[in-house]
Amino acid sequence: LSLQDGAPHTHSMTLRAIKGKKPVVLNDMKDFSGDQYLKAHMEEGICAMAVLPLLVGDKVVGVLALYVDETGFFDEEEMTLLTELAGDIGFALDHIEKADKLLYLAYYDEITGLPNRTLFLEQVGQQLRMFDGGRSSLALALVDIERFRAINDTLGRAAGDDLLQQLAQRIRTGSVALEAVARVGVNCFGVVLQGPRDVGRVALELEQLLRDCFAKPYRLLDSELRIAGKMGVVLYPLDGEDAETLLRNAEHALKRVKGSAELLMFYAPEMDTRVAAALDLESRLRTALDLEQFVLHYQPKVDLATGKVTSAEALIRWNDPQNGLVPPGRFIPILEETGLIYEVGLWALRKALEDYQRWRAAGLEPVRIAVNVSPLQLRHRHFVTAVEQVIGNDRHAAQGLELEITESLIMEDVERSSASLLAIRAMGLTIAIDDFGTGYSSLGQLSRLPVDTLKIDRTFVVDMVTGPRGLSLVSTIINLAHAFKLKVVAEGVETEEQSRLLRLMGCDEMQGFLFSRPVPADVFEQKFLPPARAG
Ligand code: C2E
Ligand code: CA
Ligand code: CA
Repeated sequence: LSLQDGAPHTHSMTLRAIKGKKPVVLNDMKDFSGDQYLKAHMEEGICAMAVLPLLVGDKVVGVLALYVDETGFFDEEEMTLLTELAGDIGFALDHIEKADKLLYLAYYDEITGLPNRTLFLEQVGQQLRMFDGGRSSLALALVDIERFRAINDTLGRAAGDDLLQQLAQRIRTGSVALEAVARVGVNCFGVVLQGPRDVGRVALELEQLLRDCFAKPYRLLDSELRIAGKMGVVLYPLDGEDAETLLRNAEHALKRVKGSAELLMFYAPEMDTRVAAALDLESRLRTALDLEQFVLHYQPKVDLATGKVTSAEALIRWNDPQNGLVPPGRFIPILEETGLIYEVGLWALRKALEDYQRWRAAGLEPVRIAVNVSPLQLRHRHFVTAVEQVIGNDRHAAQGLELEITESLIMEDVERSSASLLAIRAMGLTIAIDDFGTGYSSLGQLSRLPVDTLKIDRTFVVDMVTGPRGLSLVSTIINLAHAFKLKVVAEGVETEEQSRLLRLMGCDEMQGFLFSRPVPADVFEQKFLPPARAG
C-alpha cells in the first residue's frame, strides 16, 4: 500500500491512522465514500473496520487492522481494549528490537558480521566440553593482518573495514574446515579447526588457511594490494585447559611470530620444531609415494638343514633424493601417524607381487615373499578386500605372498584378527607372526591362531648365546611352535655359533646378516634365484 494520498494503491483509513497516530474507526461502511480498497471490502460483506497504529516511541511501525461483518461493532469499550492491545504490541516490538540490537552488539562484530571475542570464547568453551582428549589435539589459531594500522592510516578507515570484510570472507569460504571463526581484535581473527587433529595435520591445514587468506592480492580502493598475515597457534589440552587461557596463549604465540621471520608459530616452542620436522618429512613422504621413491629390498630366509633359500622378506626403504636410502624405522611411524601407511602398505604388497611375477615370467624359480603389515592396516575395515584386489584373478599370485604381522597386534584383538587372517589364508597366502616372544601370547591363544610361521625375535637369538636361560627360552619356543605345527624362523642371526645352536635345537629356518643382508631386487635375483628346471 502506498502512503501517498490519492495514489492508486492507497488505503485512506490506514493513511489517516498512520499520519494521525490515532485509531481510525468506521462503524458502518455505508457511511464511506472512499477509495477502491474499501469498496472491494464492502462487496465481501465487511460492515465495519478499525485501524490502530502500532507505535514504538512515537514512530508508527505498523498498523493493526480489524474487519468485522457487523455494523457498530467498534464501540467505546471495544476500542479501549483494542487500543491497549495495540499499545502492548508496540511495546513488545520495541523490546525485541532493542534486545536484538543489544544481543548483536554484545556478541557480534558490526563490520564483518562475525562473532566477536566474547562469543568466540563461549564457542571455544563449548568445543572443549565436547572434546574427548585422546592422542590428538584441538587447534585454535589467531590470524593477524600485518601492518593493518598503516593501511588504515594511508587508505582510510573505510578501506580498512573493506579489507577486514574481504579477509573474513576468505577465511569463511576457504578450503579449510573450521568449527568457529570470529573477529577477536582490531586486525585479528580467531579460528578453531574442525575436529581433533594430530600436530602435523594441524600445521598443514593452517598453512593452507594462510595461503587461502593471503596468497592472492586484495582489491582496495581500485588497486591491487598484497597483504601479509601471520598466525599464532595453541593446542588443547597442551597449551591450556580453558578458552581464556588458550586465547591468551595464542596471543603470546602471535607476538612471538610477529617478531620473527616465520609465518606460523605454536605456543609451545618445542611444538614448532616438532611440527617443522614432521611437516617437512610428511610432505616429502607424500611426494615419495607419488614419485615412487620407495624401494623394496629382499632378505633371504634359509633352511637350516639344507642351506637352501626358502623365501624372502621384503623390507621397505625410502630412496630420499636428499639423504639417500632411509631405513623404515625412520619413516614408518610417520606413515602410521598420517594414515599414509595404508597406501604405502598396499604399494609394498603390489610391488612384491610384481617382482615375484616378473621372476616367474623370466623362467626363474621364485620363492615366496613375506611382506610386513602394519597394525593399522590389519585393523582397517577393507584390508581383506584390498588384499583380494592385489591378488586379482591370478592363481599363482597368492602362493607368492606371505604376510608378517607382529605378535602384539594379533593378540590385541584375537577374535577379529583371526577372522581376517582366516579369510586371507583362504585365498592361499600364508601368515607369519613377527617378533614372536615380545607380545605375551598365552598358549591358549597361540593354539587358536590361524597362522603358519613363528618368527623368533632377534633379541632372543642374541640372548641365546649369553647364558643358559636364553638358550632354554629359544628351545622352548621352538618346541612349542612345533607342537602347534608351526614353522619356526629365527631372526637376526649374525654368527656361526647362533646358527649352529639353532640347527641343533631343530629350528627350521634362519634369517640374518650371517647369510645375507637385505639386498635390492636385482641383486637378490642374481644371487639367490636359480633358473627353474626345464619341464
Ligand atoms: P622386522 O620386520 O623385524 O624386520 C627385520 C629387521 O631386522 C630389518 O630391519 C632387517 O634389516 C633387520 N635385520 C635382518 N637381519 C639382521 C641381523 O642379522 N642383525 C640385525 N641387527 N638386524 C637384522 P629394517 O629393514 O630396518 O626394518 C625394520 C622394521 O621396519 C621391520 O622390522 C618392520 O617392522 C618394518 N618394515 C620394513 N618394511 C616394512 C613394510 O613394507 N611395511 C611395514 N609396515 N613395515 C615394514
Ligand atoms: Ca618382519
Ligand atoms: Ca621381526
